[in-house]
Amino acid sequence: MGWVDSHCHLDFDDFDQEALFAQLRSQGCEGVLIPATQARFFDRVMSLKQTYPELVRVALGLHPYFLSEHCLDDLSRLEDAINRFKPDAIGECGLDFLLEAPTHEQQFTYFRGQLELASAYNLPLVVHCRKAHDQLAREVSQAAFKVGGFIHGFSGSSQQASRYIKQGFVLGLGGALTYERAKAMHKMVAALPDDGYTLETDSPDMPPAFARHEQNTPLNVPKIAQYVARLRDQPLETVLLHSRENFRRILGEHI
Ligand SMILES: [Zn+2]
Repeated sequence: MGWVDSHCHLDFDDFDQEALFAQLRSQGCEGVLIPATQARFFDRVMSLKQTYPELVRVALGLHPYFLSEHCLDDLSRLEDAINRFKPDAIGECGLDFLLEAPTHEQQFTYFRGQLELASAYNLPLVVHCRKAHDQLAREVSQAAFKVGGFIHGFSGSSQQASRYIKQGFVLGLGGALTYERAKAMHKMVAALPDDGYTLETDSPDMPPAFARHEQNTPLNVPKIAQYVARLRDQPLETVLLHSRENFRRILGEHI
């Protein structure tokens, strides 16, 4: 049964890409979505798509974590890159209120800019959001953004999950749910509709409990899926199938 990883940073230097992509192919991977985090990485991410076109989908964007690296010109650089490269999605972008800042105004500026581009080019969003789900959902509805996308590394409430799903998003589920202590998350995962999630690793970040001291790679997806299957009381194949179909639907691919 094929599987996908809806969020991984395989362009980072951490990986032996040739060896990893060979393993991904031989272990049933059918797609990985690789989001760029800064304008200077747009080329690097796109070249992975050129090298492994059958597996790689890309998002181009400006991550809230790297505010000090961005400048406002990067939004026009992003628009140029959209026209030149035709990415599959916009991101990684979003709001992160865990980051300390006198105000979050700058984060809003970059997020709104990317939301506008996603609307204009009819592309899904790859969203990073911590401690700002209400604010982010409000931005999406104020912009009347209908394309949807992925809320990556989602660990919010069931209520926040269903609001996002109504807005056309799916929730990215990853390593965090493999920890025993993540009880609230376990409940949320069990209650999600079948068309409301995808599986992801956020490699090389967020290592799952079963591989805490190893390098995190998309090869961990089938094991994360086992946890999700147990929580949802569904067969493993069902979970892999829904994750894969939801991934393709959001990216506008034929299922
Ligand atoms: Zn990420």
